[in-house]
Amino acid sequence: MINVDETEIDKFSQLAHKWWDMSGEFKPLHEINPLRLGFIDERAAITGKQVLDVGCGGGILAESMASLGAAVTGIDLAKKSLKVAQLHSLESGVAVDYRCVAVEELAEESPASFDVVTCMEMLEHVPDPQSVVRSCASLVKPGGWVFFSTLNRNAKSYLLAVVGAEYVLNMLPRGTHEYARFLKPSELSRMARNAGLDMDAVRGMSYNPLTRIYSLGEDTAVNYLMACRRPE
Ligand code: SAH
Repeated sequence: MINVDETEIDKFSQLAHKWWDMSGEFKPLHEINPLRLGFIDERAAITGKQVLDVGCGGGILAESMASLGAAVTGIDLAKKSLKVAQLHSLESGVAVDYRCVAVEELAEESPASFDVVTCMEMLEHVPDPQSVVRSCASLVKPGGWVFFSTLNRNAKSYLLAVVGAEYVLNMLPRGTHEYARFLKPSELSRMARNAGLDMDAVRGMSYNPLTRIYSLGEDTAVNYLMACRRPE
């Protein structure tokens, strides 16, 4: 049994040509990318490290980590997205190794082989997020870092991430997010603990609609990043 929701993969496949359209559906991911890249690099100093990006999509984060000098592998189950990612990497000249493989399968194949594992905005699209968290934990080397980001589950995140983004502002296609799959920071940290990871830090990513600027801070109500470490 593979831990995937095919309708989710279809959704992303249909949008695959838009991954690098800076004003398209994935604009928010481009806008938050420098923030998450900074959050990751501040802690894990990725230059020269082996990094795995799980649910890499078109490679927004994967390529930016590679441009800092990390040796990056990006995995996803949407083949079209991986193709777009590969083409973009050829054009930009920033090499990333893209593979179509489930994280659980890669974890069986090559456990403890990455210094850093990132899994951004993906857990809220899978049937069994605990299984993904467990696989990320087994893919990272002892002492290595695992980073997650996802959407919190409460009235505010429902209003902003679902109603606001999908229905009012039309920033995202309707049905992009399924509220029931959003994860509270307490739930994600429990999953990390269950997988043998220590939680190191949580930061909120918030959007100011007036300035149209995203920033990192204490407010984890909608979108947040979590840094975890596998004990030595
Ligand atoms: N991590 C990227 C893309 C986030 S969009 C970024 O933040 O820029 C969510 C991604 O998760 C999509 O590319 C989708 O294809 C992928 N995804 C959804 N379910 C998946 C699964 N079960 N296994 C691997 N990738 C999955």
